[in-house]
Amino acid sequence: MMIKSLHKRKSELANSNKQVEFLSNGIFKGGELATFNTKIAETNQFPLRPKKLEILQINLGYMCNQVCEHCHVDAGPDRKEIMTKETMLHCLDVIKTTNAHTLDLTGGAPEMNPNFRWFVDEASKAGIKDFIVRSNLTILRANKKYYDLPEFFKNHNIHVISSMPHWTKGKTDKQRGSGVFDKSIKALEELNAIGYGMPNSSLKLDLVYNPSGAFLPGNQVALEKDFKKALHDDFGIQFHNLFAITNLPISRFLDYLIASENYEDYMYALVEAYNPEAVKNVMCTNTISVSWDGFLYDCDFNQMLELPVSSKVKHISEYNEEQLQERTIITSQHCYGCTAGAGSSCQGNIIPA
Ligand code: SF4
Ligand code: SF4
Repeated sequence: MMIKSLHKRKSELANSNKQVEFLSNGIFKGGELATFNTKIAETNQFPLRPKKLEILQINLGYMCNQVCEHCHVDAGPDRKEIMTKETMLHCLDVIKTTNAHTLDLTGGAPEMNPNFRWFVDEASKAGIKDFIVRSNLTILRANKKYYDLPEFFKNHNIHVISSMPHWTKGKTDKQRGSGVFDKSIKALEELNAIGYGMPNSSLKLDLVYNPSGAFLPGNQVALEKDFKKALHDDFGIQFHNLFAITNLPISRFLDYLIASENYEDYMYALVEAYNPEAVKNVMCTNTISVSWDGFLYDCDFNQMLELPVSSKVKHISEYNEEQLQERTIITSQHCYGCTAGAGSSCQGNIIPA
């Protein structure tokens, strides 16, 4: 059955306030489990504060050609929130002056933004050290107009990071939709053919794994080994690194947890695996996230929960890095997803093996 976005289904959880409310009540309100802020206070880490800014992550819109079961963005073809050229111009002003060394474009499928190529052209002129595009792979095969994107990425020395929940068709299609696995393999073959992901190639291709159910990811190093072997043996595909990411209990994954009656068990598992060492380097300490409409957030997850930065500077048009670096970070129960085990971020484990 085709999955629909929470917005399309008119689900109560499409409203981010409802998600925040849900995560604040139940086992956390009754004191059965410590709230995240209480937990980090035990090791004097509350409130979280930014460290050196390294990553500027820009969400170009929530539209996507896929509707994955666990999407934390609630993305899909029905989502019309797309960054305008005007907001992109503000972003470009910031890209030219920021101290961040990494620019990370995400979505939805960022390539579906009609000004995507123009924006990449302009942004790449700023000479960013690591220019990431998070591509879901199938978009590269979705329509003829996207077929030349691998070359476009290569010409701009883009670092491609793509989700690939499993090396088998069954598990990938279950989470991401029928036919996704075959199209993803085709896209990976095309990226490999022009040098992406090949040993010693400077054209970086990394994959992202996230669990296909209500459990925490296994060991990232072991998973990378298994992925590399299976994709190489079965299809001759190569890639550089695998990032194992924990599903955060928000948006469609929260909906899945509630519908499958796994919510409480999952939160217990996250809290049990809480690692105060991971807290020191959670993603929000080195990242600023910009939404499709230019508002600023501590991370992509806070963006989806509509928890804006706690700063006078709220929008990319009034960006002031110095002032933003003085903020405190907004944290709540969903943050347990970043601090379980070896920790989780958009770049995989927080604590290296
Ligand atoms: S490809 Fe990514 S953004 Fe699109 S629905 Fe899947 S998880 Fe969400
Ligand atoms: S969810 Fe965001 S704010 Fe919370 S710990 Fe993770 S990165 Fe930080």
